[in-house]
Amino acid sequence: MTPSPACLARQIEQLSEIGRTVQGGVSRLAFTREDMAGRALLRGWMQEAGLEPERDPVGNLIGTLPGNRPGAPTLACGSHIDTVVNAGKYDGIVGMLAAVECARVLHKQGGLNCTLKVINFVMEESSRFGAGYGFGSRVMAGLPISKQELFARDRSKVLLARAVQELEGWETNSRIATERTALRETEKDIENSRFDWSSVRAFVELHIEQGPVLERAGKPIGIVTAVAAPTRLHLEIAGESNHSGTTPMDLRHDALAAAAEMILAVETLAAQSDTRKVVATVGVIQNEPNVMNVIPGRVELRVDIRSADAAAKRVYTETITESIRAIAARRAVGIELTTLTDETPVTFSDTVIGAIERACVARGIDALYLPSGAGHDAAHIARVAPTGMLFIPSRGGISHDPREFSSSDEIGCGAEVLVKSLVELDKLSD
Ligand SMILES: [Zn+2]
Repeated sequence: MTPSPACLARQIEQLSEIGRTVQGGVSRLAFTREDMAGRALLRGWMQEAGLEPERDPVGNLIGTLPGNRPGAPTLACGSHIDTVVNAGKYDGIVGMLAAVECARVLHKQGGLNCTLKVINFVMEESSRFGAGYGFGSRVMAGLPISKQELFARDRSKVLLARAVQELEGWETNSRIATERTALRETEKDIENSRFDWSSVRAFVELHIEQGPVLERAGKPIGIVTAVAAPTRLHLEIAGESNHSGTTPMDLRHDALAAAAEMILAVETLAAQSDTRKVVATVGVIQNEPNVMNVIPGRVELRVDIRSADAAAKRVYTETITESIRAIAARRAVGIELTTLTDETPVTFSDTVIGAIERACVARGIDALYLPSGAGHDAAHIARVAPTGMLFIPSRGGISHDPREFSSSDEIGCGAEVLVKSLVELDKLSD
């Protein structure tokens, strides 16, 4: 017995009707009515699959399929079903529904030795509150959630802590009437939602690639080796504002012209890294005074540097910092360089990668090994338990857009490899 692509396709369609947008996309932002409705549907599917779902205090939904051998470790899989604004139907959803489908298949076959936990992480996407991604998985992993994050507000000025408290029902609850209470209660809930990973042998997440690599390589499955992490720099370039008509070219200290050179250096250096291990982007530019007839006097840039290879990222960051300082010195402009974040990439577990490998071989699948450029819940769980991920192709590499697409065959293939990987991991307990 194998996972049913038809059943998965039906569930994906059904879920995409909740929060459907006029552009044909889906908006099911975390902790909204749509999110709750979607997760209620998922809870029903978990029960139909033979799982016993339970919700933790912050809203993560955990379905359990008890193991056959007392004392055997636990296996876990899952993903998220919240979306960005006007999203596609597949990001997170494929992995979540495939995990439930795998549980159904395993339940029908009499279960595993290990207990299986199928986890729906709450608020993976950071779109609604603009806080860090993977709130639910960080809470379960016991990773830090800052006060600042809990104080984050959505566009309607709703506090994140309040949205968490309103899980129980949509009527305003007198207990959480004040934001201060909501914050205090949420801090308690976060503490109480920390999951005990000590008996977990492995966590596996199936996800769409959200990039073009698998499609280009013509491979149906990607075995994810690592998840890239960002280093972010803030540059402040101090030039000299002056009249654009009266200042000769050789007497200028144009902050924007210097910034332009720096932006190109960021791109050129990343493109030159012959191993292609680093991607780097200047996504933010602020120019002052931004006036037609004034030489720009002050520019701020933000640089986003990502790699799954910590050493390569360090070398790039050091080299680009030197280049930026050299450009500033040559143009006689001031430069202030601040590191905003410097996160360590996550490397996945050899045990889990090995199990996915064997699952692919058993199915005659030629998989591709690749790092993930995007963050996922699995990257947080990897900090506390052996973790791995597998990708299926995304058509055109498009994601976070209504055009996002993976075929039913590709999804079915991913689900088959997922269930087989769980069986391989279960065997390790013998
Ligand atoms: Zn996702």
